[in-house]
Amino acid sequence: MTSSSNIKARKTLDKIQPYSPGKPIWEVQKELGLDRVIKLASNENPLGPSPKALVAIQNGLAELNRYPDADASALKKAIAKEFHVNPQQVIPTNGADELITLISEAFLEEGDEVIVPSPSFSEYDFGAHIMGATVVPVKFSEGFEFNVDAMIAAVTDKTKIIYICTPNNPTGTYMTKSDLDKLVKAIDDVLVVIDAAYDHFADATDYTNGIEYINAGYPVLTLETFSKIYGIAGVRVGFGIASESIIQSILKVKEPFNVNTLAQIAATAAIEDAEHVKTSQETNKAGRKQLYKAFDELGLAYIESMANFVLVQIGEDGEKLYTELMAKGVIVRHGKIWGLPDYVRVSVGTPEENQFFIDALTGLLVKQA
Ligand SMILES: *Cc1c(COP(=O)(O)O)cnc(C)c1O
Repeated sequence: MTSSSNIKARKTLDKIQPYSPGKPIWEVQKELGLDRVIKLASNENPLGPSPKALVAIQNGLAELNRYPDADASALKKAIAKEFHVNPQQVIPTNGADELITLISEAFLEEGDEVIVPSPSFSEYDFGAHIMGATVVPVKFSEGFEFNVDAMIAAVTDKTKIIYICTPNNPTGTYMTKSDLDKLVKAIDDVLVVIDAAYDHFADATDYTNGIEYINAGYPVLTLETFSKIYGIAGVRVGFGIASESIIQSILKVKEPFNVNTLAQIAATAAIEDAEHVKTSQETNKAGRKQLYKAFDELGLAYIESMANFVLVQIGEDGEKLYTELMAKGVIVRHGKIWGLPDYVRVSVGTPEENQFFIDALTGLLVKQA
């Protein structure tokens, strides 16, 4: 009999570590015996799901004996309307994470290169590695600004995809329109994926989510999610917008029923919930200010953010402080996973949650001093 340890996974999987998510609230509560635990670790909407999505889900429950619409046609139509593109240019997916995998499966051969600004969202590396492609990281400049010249210089004849997460997770910085312009005009035959998961929070006038470049005929794909501003991370919906030919290639590797019925219904309702979007934007903007003010008072350096989180430098004892925050019931993300051990990334919460975090952090820093 052969031992199961003789069953070897593909070589390329040696490069992959299972995803490590932020700790769930219940786990921290149970482990530490705390009454109140707040999670500011996954950039979720602190106001909850779009109320319209919740009503839609309840109305859809009785139909769960049926398979989902494989084409997600109502959702596609709603997305197309919102973004002023045609429905054939839209692909809904089981979260934007699935879309990154599908893009990788559709476009990457073994040995191809993928350019990824660093540090950024880890799923791009994952997608490259499952296909045996090579990740070419390009460091950000001072203040975590995109270094477009270095990105252009990194392109070789093996480059297939360039990922641009803007606003970037975890730094909160964005690529200016003029930089994106320069990039798309400097390269040929490379798919540019703009991850605009946080675009609703970006209020800079020279921000772009890339849709205008798709309309102008550039090989750009804009990736979006319902997990952040729309507040329905739990049902898993994301989507991509690109030219019809790019979408057709991705459709070939998609499973038929990738977006479940409740997710389709919820997303179709949420995208039309302008009021929930507006309230969420306003809450976030005020929350960022609340955090900046506290960091200023504490003398902590932070990166001004165009997203719903802030990267803040808490010092050499970063990991210790992160653990102590957890012990006080505040879950944030420690920067170690991005090679930034003296930083944490804190998601913007409700005003009360932000204050709870600020009080906990202040208590710990004062104790330290
Ligand atoms: C949260 C996030 C996504 C979206 O993930 P889902 O799979 O749709 O929940 C995509 N890109 C970035 C950068 C993110 O932070």
